[in-house]
Amino acid sequence: MAEQKRITPVYDDENWPQPIREDRDGRKGSKMHGPRNIDRERQDPDMICPPETDHGKMINCKFSFADAHIRLDYGGWAREVTKRELPVSESVASVNMNLKKGGVRELHWHKEAEWAIVLAGTVRVTAVDEEGRNHIADVNPGDLWYFPSGLPHSLVGVTEAEFLLVFDDGGFSEDSTFSITDWVAHTPKEVLAKNFGLPESAFEGDKIPSGERYIYQGREAGSFEEDNEESPYGNTPNPFTFSMWDVEPIKTSGGTARIVDSKRNFYASKTMACAMVEVEPGGVRELHWHPNVDEWQYYLSGEARMTIFAAEGHARTFNYVPGDVGYVPHVMGHYIENTGDTTLRFLEMFRDDHFAEIALNQWMALVSQDMVSDTFNDNKELMSALHKEKRPVVKFDK
Ligand code: MN
Ligand code: MN
Repeated sequence: MAEQKRITPVYDDENWPQPIREDRDGRKGSKMHGPRNIDRERQDPDMICPPETDHGKMINCKFSFADAHIRLDYGGWAREVTKRELPVSESVASVNMNLKKGGVRELHWHKEAEWAIVLAGTVRVTAVDEEGRNHIADVNPGDLWYFPSGLPHSLVGVTEAEFLLVFDDGGFSEDSTFSITDWVAHTPKEVLAKNFGLPESAFEGDKIPSGERYIYQGREAGSFEEDNEESPYGNTPNPFTFSMWDVEPIKTSGGTARIVDSKRNFYASKTMACAMVEVEPGGVRELHWHPNVDEWQYYLSGEARMTIFAAEGHARTFNYVPGDVGYVPHVMGHYIENTGDTTLRFLEMFRDDHFAEIALNQWMALVSQDMVSDTFNDNKELMSALHKEKRPVVKFDK
């Protein structure tokens, strides 16, 4: 078990974590006797017993999809983590959605841009732009899509499918989008008749839905060729879909990083940039910060801890497991350590047109070495470990 390798917290005879830290001068903290949510506390060893280096006040930077309300429909389900659940998350909101085979997230649009990654199954996405150009694609695990602000789109489960949607505004709600059925239900029938050049009778009774359908169980998706309507204006020039697996990963001693943004490869994704990071057991996503925007995270597999440094001595450590959302406010320093026995995999998301980071080690290597050496008490060992290249994921090899 990974927790056995940890120095803190102290685990008692029943293997329950206790808020106890041993140090040179003795034993801080003491055993917990009152009611406990032990399952949750096992997931949060650094909350039960924070590292000695934590200090001061820091806003909460964790929320789990496990605590999010789920909306159930006949065609699937959806749950969301927005700034209502995680108040620090001003820049990004997210929805975890499932569509059954033939389940449909109906034709709709919204003010926020939508970025997504497929987690399981196959989804058919369609979108139309302001020039009448369309885009249709079947996407699979690891594939992404991006729909710009205001453009209409829809999703169909070709198989049962699940995906993560990320929106470029923390206040977004999947429950308050512009849906085609909602609009038509709230337009006078005589106007619908004029709009489509039909008699009013075409819209009577159950000939149109009486309200928003949102997610519904539809027929099985047709073949791609059948569904691929041809537009006289052609397809959108920058495809709204992209595969994470087409990105050559940056490989280092401790893992990999794949960066996807509108400057490098996914040209349509103008307001969302992404890094998918894999950290091997024992490895750490190196100490760094982002000069441009906040970071929103989604944990895909493994176990992690992250300490966020907020200046003035403030620092707080959080633990993450799959399905958790993490957050790092703009420019705050952080690392992400693999604290488990399996590969840690997570997404870093940024509301910007490009990914940007400053790495501590590289920064220290690219300025006067005399100055750095003076700063760190002439620590020769430390000076010898500096390198001028970025190594996003590192691992100490003895
Ligand atoms: Mn949408
Ligand atoms: Mn980061």
